[in-house]
Amino acid sequence: MLHPKKERTLLILKPDAVKRGLAGEIVSRIESRGLKIIALRMFWANKDQIDRHYPQDEKWIKRLGEKTLKNYAEYNFDAKKELGSDDSLVVGGMVRSWLIDYLTSGPMVKMVIEGIHAINMVRKIAGPTMPAEADMGTIRGDFSVDDATAANRDKRSIRNLVHASETHEEAEHEISFWFAPEEIFEYKRAEDDVM
Ligand code: GDP
Ligand code: MG
Repeated sequence: MLHPKKERTLLILKPDAVKRGLAGEIVSRIESRGLKIIALRMFWANKDQIDRHYPQDEKWIKRLGEKTLKNYAEYNFDAKKELGSDDSLVVGGMVRSWLIDYLTSGPMVKMVIEGIHAINMVRKIAGPTMPAEADMGTIRGDFSVDDATAANRDKRSIRNLVHASETHEEAEHEISFWFAPEEIFEYKRAEDDVM
């Protein structure tokens, strides 16, 4: 088993973060937490890459649809009327295709982050998927107020600034998908001796 300090996760600054000039602010939040950036690069993805970055299985697409339907129920929105369907697989498919448009609409910044419980820590710093539900102090809570009811009405993805791996499986797949081993660096940060 790997030392907990060596856990790795993938963080992507989505096009809205780059276009709003928030890259430095977000990187700084990661660094000041004591998490180590061990790879970083700006890139412009194509649709096929984004399609392969996210899981393609039915279970994941259904889960995506369920998130929207839950948000609709909370705000008393009628999914069938708004979207033409309240089937989680159909709705999840729609959300997934909007997501691909969003993430190919401009340059992004990808990075690999290493540190204690890096996957959960970075998710915590990012905040939950819907910025409207995110606490102040999180990236999504501090810089956005978007949610599914608004985004779906405009037939677009929720603009929530960052992508962060959710599980060990996602992290492993995403890191090797976006970075070659020689683009990831091992080095010592000053805090390694202190924290
Ligand atoms: P994440 O891990 O927090 O990024 O969330 P997911 O993996 O569930 O979803 C991937 C991305 O799809 C999110 O970051 C949003 O940009 C977008 N998204 C998720 N759920 C919805 C939704 O219900 N409606 C819309 N329009 N976009 C969504
Ligand atoms: Mg996710």
